[in-house]
Amino acid sequence: MRRIQWTRYAGQPLPPNTKLITRPGKYGNPWKVGDGATREDVVARFESYLADRSQHPEVAYPSDDEIVRDLDGYDLACACNHHGPCHGDALIRHIHTLNLLATTGGAR
Ligand SMILES: [Zn+2]
Repeated sequence: MRRIQWTRYAGQPLPPNTKLITRPGKYGNPWKVGDGATREDVVARFESYLADRSQHPEVAYPSDDEIVRDLDGYDLACACNHHGPCHGDALIRHIHTLNLLATTGGAR
């Protein structure tokens, strides 16, 4: 599972075994760059939200179970380049944590 850079404008098809996580789309980052928020800010906000969703009950993001069911084992494609942070990295870390909890018997 890794993050790949993909943009619809470059003309290449989405590679096999890859799920698109850009906006619009249910796995896009609910927080957007702009209004003083940098890419680092919105990725940190998203990662913090995944760790504790009670911070933002107004955000309707797919559940942990749904995330694992839909994305685990796939590469995640986002338009972000590899040099900066991306919410896809946060998603991959989150899925690893969920899998670790599942295999060690922790509650998901
Ligand atoms: Zn991204």
